[in-house]
Amino acid sequence: MKTAVHWFRRDLRVSDNTALSEAVQRAERVVPVFILEDAFRTGPDVGAARLAFLLRSLDSLRKNLAELGYPLVIRRGRSEVELPRLCAELGAQAVFCNKRYEPYAQARDNRVFNALNGAGVGFEVFKDAVIWEERELLTKAGNPFTVFTPYSRAWKARAIPPPKPKLRASSKRVPKIASDPLPLDGADLGHPLSQTMPFAGERAARDALRAFLKQPIFTYGTARDFPAQNGTSRLSPHLRCGTIGIRTVLTGLRKARAEASPAQRPSCDVFLNELIWREFYLQVLSNFPRVMRGCFRPEYDALKWSDNREHFEAWCAGMTGYPIVDAAMRCLNATGWMHNRLRMIVAMFLTKDLLINWQWGERYFMQKLVDGDMAANNGGWQWSAGTGTDAAPYFRIFNPVSQGLKFDPQGEFVREWVPELAALPEDLIHQPWEDPLLAAKSRYPARIVLHEEQRPKCLAMFKAVSRRLQV
Ligand SMILES: Cc1cc2nc3c(=O)[nH]c(=O)nc-3n(C[C@H](O)[C@H](O)[C@H](O)COP(=O)(O)OP(=O)(O)OC[C@H]3O[C@@H](n4cnc5c(N)ncnc54)[C@H](O)[C@@H]3O)c2cc1C
Repeated sequence: MKTAVHWFRRDLRVSDNTALSEAVQRAERVVPVFILEDAFRTGPDVGAARLAFLLRSLDSLRKNLAELGYPLVIRRGRSEVELPRLCAELGAQAVFCNKRYEPYAQARDNRVFNALNGAGVGFEVFKDAVIWEERELLTKAGNPFTVFTPYSRAWKARAIPPPKPKLRASSKRVPKIASDPLPLDGADLGHPLSQTMPFAGERAARDALRAFLKQPIFTYGTARDFPAQNGTSRLSPHLRCGTIGIRTVLTGLRKARAEASPAQRPSCDVFLNELIWREFYLQVLSNFPRVMRGCFRPEYDALKWSDNREHFEAWCAGMTGYPIVDAAMRCLNATGWMHNRLRMIVAMFLTKDLLINWQWGERYFMQKLVDGDMAANNGGWQWSAGTGTDAAPYFRIFNPVSQGLKFDPQGEFVREWVPELAALPEDLIHQPWEDPLLAAKSRYPARIVLHEEQRPKCLAMFKAVSRRLQV
């Protein structure tokens, strides 16, 4: 074929990119494009941190592509309008892209397919973001997996494909193609760019992977639970935006494991499991898109959640009176980031102490998280609430004080994010109310609920639904 368009979406990289590799093999000329849709700045799930990360990653992609002789075309508008228009301008025969799994993205791809088809242009979609997708791994009965352990066993039983080759420099002369500017100050898209993690782009992703595989991987199995330690990879924004390919991560992991001592190998295996959780939740979303509208276990849609907005707002602002919860939420609000252990703690607190619907928390996370991802976020929230596939049973309720004492034993994380408590000794930092004199002097809020009182209420709320089912 003479000319093809590569449509960049969540694959903002020139290495290990399946559709891009295919496009350059099959077309004489490939024109890369990114479409800035209005949806990036409207809608309830839009997040400033994520948008900032996306725009910075795009800027870095544009530079990488330019070095290789492929100027990135930016177009603003609806994909189903802009892609056929660009193809007509270029006389392109096909659009190549990597597959997306979210229901809204699939609906958009259907519209794009119809529009391109109507214009006589091909639409080629490739698996890239995951190793095994949708219905590639099924139970013996031929159904999608809804339990993680057998899924991960099936996942590991097959050989992992190697990374795709890096895009090579183009020798073709590049004609000028009209391109919209990239709104890097953010104001244009209605979002400030201040709340973001410092790193973005393909090089930063590779650096993060390299740094993680050098040392932290070997202690990941234990260090990953302590928010004050730098024990996890922080690859999630990169895996979400596609600034690194999953095959690249797995190849690096395999090499690190081969060089690890026998005592270090279990840590490598725990990390692999986390990467498999990512694919597990993506296949849950693909096979059961209803999880975006309600509980995976539909019986729990009847739960009578609290609609106390004051409690919800205190949770959002990090003003619940529970230090580990508040530190985590303040960190999220300020940076767009939250450690996995803390995500579980605050999600359990919202659903099982404040008795507020997990969907409120799910949406708030999507608005704030730099790595906000529909599948992983929904999976994490339903797991914490006890309504999901592999969910923690409803009677498993984290105690925010013991979680704090166990996973932030010196209170380092709390001290960093809750300055009102910074001077407290270790034995009080997770329960400042234990010293009433100190508590009275501090500007830190009193507890909005008492965990001991909320626990039985939560159990009763879940039991009421279970009882109704038995009748
Ligand atoms: C309530 C809740 C909401 C969450 N929302 C998101 C979200 O929006 N986006 C997101 O990427 N992750 C989400 N997670 C999963 C997890 O918290 C993050 O992936 C992890 O904290 C990212 O940090 P890391 O890259 O250092 O992870 P690492 O521990 O280094 O793990 C490596 C990679 O594995 C994947 N991963 C790890 N744990 C999980 C998990 N439990 N589920 C799915 N994938 C996982 C991520 O891609 C991660 O980058 C959520 C978890 C909970 C409990």
